[in-house]
Amino acid sequence: MAAMSAAAQPVLRDIVLVGGGHSHVGVLRLFGMNPVPGVRLTLICRDAHTPYSGMLPGYVAGHYSHDEMHIDLRRLAAFAGARFFHDEAVGLDRGARKVLCRGQPPVPYDLLSINVGSAPRMEGIEGAARAVAVKPIHTFNERWLALLERVRRHAGATAIAVVGAGAAGVELLLAMQYRLCNELKTLGRDPRALRFHLLEAADRILPTHNAAVRAAFARVLAARGVMVHCGARVRRVAAGRLETAAGAAIEADEIVWVTGAGGAPWLRWTGLALDREGCIEVGATLQSSDPLVFAAGDVASLRGRALAKAGVFAVRMGPPLAKNLRLAAAGRPLRPYRPQRRWLALISTGDKAAVASRGLLCLRGAWVWRWKDWIDRRFMAKFGDLPAAAG
Ligand SMILES: Cc1cc2nc3c(=O)[nH]c(=O)nc-3n(C[C@H](O)[C@H](O)[C@H](O)COP(=O)(O)OP(=O)(O)OC[C@H]3O[C@@H](n4cnc5c(N)ncnc54)[C@H](O)[C@@H]3O)c2cc1C
Repeated sequence: MAAMSAAAQPVLRDIVLVGGGHSHVGVLRLFGMNPVPGVRLTLICRDAHTPYSGMLPGYVAGHYSHDEMHIDLRRLAAFAGARFFHDEAVGLDRGARKVLCRGQPPVPYDLLSINVGSAPRMEGIEGAARAVAVKPIHTFNERWLALLERVRRHAGATAIAVVGAGAAGVELLLAMQYRLCNELKTLGRDPRALRFHLLEAADRILPTHNAAVRAAFARVLAARGVMVHCGARVRRVAAGRLETAAGAAIEADEIVWVTGAGGAPWLRWTGLALDREGCIEVGATLQSSDPLVFAAGDVASLRGRALAKAGVFAVRMGPPLAKNLRLAAAGRPLRPYRPQRRWLALISTGDKAAVASRGLLCLRGAWVWRWKDWIDRRFMAKFGDLPAAAG
């Protein structure tokens, strides 16, 4: 006999969502607003509160509280009529159509969607465990809070190195510097006790952005005394020290890794087709090499069109993913997802100012930060003030 869903409908199709990333929060919201009879949704997520990384630099800088940058997944799942399993997926048994979890028994699915994000790639770096990766964000946050406390208590000098000078690395460094300097000033101490290094393997910072954006950040970094090392590919992390492939050594008490991102190791054993970074290859319908398995966000690698690992794309994939999950559950033809050609990056400079980067455009100022703040808060409000459910 068919199981019954919470709304006492027979369960005809089980849709399981793995990961509470930017695409799945959109899917849950849309299913909550327009439930599909006979479909049971289940969300499996390692975090019960999922972070919105667009607000991470602002949180680190002290402009947002911890709660302001997190979405409550239990509440969102309840709104969507979905089951919520606070657990980590560690594998798939695609033959039996089950998700294998760290804590609980395997979870059966008819359709599966994966939105677990990505993390900086640190394989092959000797001593990498001494550094902290920016993702998972909850692990980074624990180290960040410990660093804040250490700097407050420790009277001497502290050197902090950020590895990776893409938008996320530059933004995070400037946010950490802003916050830590403010902490020291509040304690009546000299902020010059803090030294910051930014290391980049490429020959320039922000390599995917236009020359005006790069120049704007070069000026900010120089004005704030950040030591920028380009062409510096880190080969080894020793105690209190980084070593580059060219043989340079940089002393650092804390090392934060914000380099190019790849997929989680467990995906390699799913048998799904992956790209070189270990992300799941998907076609325009967001289906993987197994048509019952969809993927979205950073973990999805769209065939024929390399997309930046940006939350903007993860968010935009939400509505077409929700649509295709509905269509697939009804056995109807799916629709293609068409990514935008250009996208806007609003990169903050630690203080309440930011730079807008899009194609050849570069705009900067306090108003750009207010614009980013407005966009980010508007996104988060969608999950704080949930609309009335339709079903
Ligand atoms: C400092 C920083 C600033 C950034 N700023 C911006 C910005 O301003 N704009 C922008 O567009 N992009 C920004 N990005 C990029 C952005 O973070 C990513 O592109 C975005 O988070 C990808 O979203 P996602 O939905 O794919 O995954 P995520 O947001 O990473 O969500 C993944 C979810 O899956 C869960 N999960 C992971 N593994 C498992 C598992 N095995 N089982 C169950 N659950 C799991 C996690 O707990 C999490 O809830 C920034 C990145 C960083 C590091």
